[in-house]
Amino acid sequence: MSPKILISACLAGFKVRYNGSDKPLLDATLARWQREGRLVVCCPELAAGFSTPRPAAEISPDADGAAVLAQRAQVRETTGADVTAPYLLGAQLALETARRHDCRFALLTDGSPSCGSQLIYDGSFSGQSKPGSGVTAALLRQQGIEVFSDRQIAALVARVSEYERQAAPPAADADGQ
Ligand code: SF4
Repeated sequence: MSPKILISACLAGFKVRYNGSDKPLLDATLARWQREGRLVVCCPELAAGFSTPRPAAEISPDADGAAVLAQRAQVRETTGADVTAPYLLGAQLALETARRHDCRFALLTDGSPSCGSQLIYDGSFSGQSKPGSGVTAALLRQQGIEVFSDRQIAALVARVSEYERQAAPPAADADGQ
């Protein structure tokens, strides 16, 4: 069985980041998965209606994506605008996309208030990061999807290989039984 992988659109080479850039991830296994039709490209923020470019946004200090999901924290732009609702919508739409395509794994751009899965910025808009997840990564994890950051591609490849081995039917005996 070949599981599908939800991938951040900016990692797949689409210029959808807040500043109009992409963050392409070049990797031989990713390229093969792409040829095999196993990558499902998603940008939660564009799905929620944001355009590119857009103001940078960060999650409230001392909070992370899980706190936003629990309605204990907000996401704010540099302008001060509260954009919590569209970030929650983007997370929900990403989850629906993952489920529609039966994605067991996600490979997401670290540092983003949506896609970050190991690091996010600390809410002070001073360029300081801290351990934590963005809103989409937190929701996907809560719903059982295994999330990896762009810095964990080797770990993702190893985990997908293990999953495929476990899901493979047992080899038939010599007499075909
Ligand atoms: Fe990339 Fe995710 Fe930000 Fe979209 S929301 S630009 S996919 S990091």
